[in-house]
Amino acid sequence: MYAAAFDYHRPSTIDEAIALLARHGDEAKVLAGGHSLIPAMKLRLARPSVVVDIARIASLSEIRDAGGRIAVGALATHQSVESSALLKSKCPLLAEVAATIGDVQVRNKGTIGGSLAHADPAADYPAAIVALDAEIEVAGPKGRRTIRAADFFVGLLETALAPDEIITEIRVPATPQSVAYEKTSQKASGFALTGVAVVVDGQAARIGITGVATKAYRATAAEQALGAGRTAETIAAAASHAADGVDPLNDIHASSAFRAHLAQVNTRRALERAFSRV
Ligand code: FAD
Repeated sequence: MYAAAFDYHRPSTIDEAIALLARHGDEAKVLAGGHSLIPAMKLRLARPSVVVDIARIASLSEIRDAGGRIAVGALATHQSVESSALLKSKCPLLAEVAATIGDVQVRNKGTIGGSLAHADPAADYPAAIVALDAEIEVAGPKGRRTIRAADFFVGLLETALAPDEIITEIRVPATPQSVAYEKTSQKASGFALTGVAVVVDGQAARIGITGVATKAYRATAAEQALGAGRTAETIAAAASHAADGVDPLNDIHASSAFRAHLAQVNTRRALERAFSRV
C-alpha cells in the first residue's frame, strides 16, 4: 500500500528543519531512517501532510567524546552505534544493544533518534537509555533543552518531545565494561518481547527494562533487592522483582504473565553477565 500524498522538504540545517516544523505544526512529521514512520504512513496510522526529511543534516550523525560523556547524534544509525570504536570502549552497552536490533537492513537505515522519538514499547534502545541515565538534547523554536531519560518516555508511543522539536543528540556516560543486555526477541521482527539492560555501578547495578510495559522503566525494586549482593542466590532473588509495580502488556506475541517471567529471567542473566565482567 502507498502512503497518502504529502509535501516533502529536505532541510540542510537544524534551524531550517525547526522552522518548517514550527510553520506546519501537527501536520508535519520528521523523517529520519523511515523504518517506523514509512510503514505507519502506508498503514494510515500516521498521515502527515508535510514530511521534513532531516537525513541530510550531516552534523546530526556524529558520535563524539564530549568530556566524560559520549554524544551520539540523533541520526547515527544502529549500524554506526554498533560498530563505533568510541562507544565500544567507553559505553559498550549502547553498542551491544544496537547489534540486537532487527536485521542488517534495519540497522543500516534506522537511527537512534528515530527509535527514541517513536517510543515503541518493544524498542531496544530505551532499556539502555534509562539504565545509563542518558540525556536527550532537543532543539525547537524556543531553543535547546535537555531531557533526562527518566522523563523522556511518557507512555505508549509517547514522549516529552513537542511536535516542533527534534532530537539532536543523546549523551551517555562513560562506563566500565561491566554491562549487559539480555533480550528475548519477537521472532519475525526482532523487536524485544523483553529486553533488560544492566549497568554495574560500584557495588550496585542500574537495570532498565523494555518490552514489558507501555514504556521502558528502571526496575528499582530489583535494584534495591540486590543491595551489595553478587552471589547467584542474591541475583536470582533480586531478579524476581523485575516486574514489580508494572502492568505487563498482553498481546498476540506474549501474555502479561509470560512477559513478567521473561523480565525476571533476562534480569537474572543480564546481572550475572554484567557482574562477571567486573
Ligand atoms: P523514522 O521511521 O524516520 O521516524 C520514527 C518517528 O520518529 C517518527 O515519528 C519521526 O517523526 C520521529 N523522528 C525521527 N527522528 C527524529 C528526531 N531526530 N527528532 C524528533 N523526531 C524524530 N527497533 C528495535 O528497537 N528493535 C528491533 O528489533 C527492531 N526491528 C525492526 C524490524 C523491522 C522489519 C523494522 C521495519 C523496524 C524495526 N525496528 C526495531 C525499528 C527500527 O529500529 C526503526 O528504525 C526505529 O524505530 C525508527 O528509527 P528511524 O530512524 O527509522 O525513524
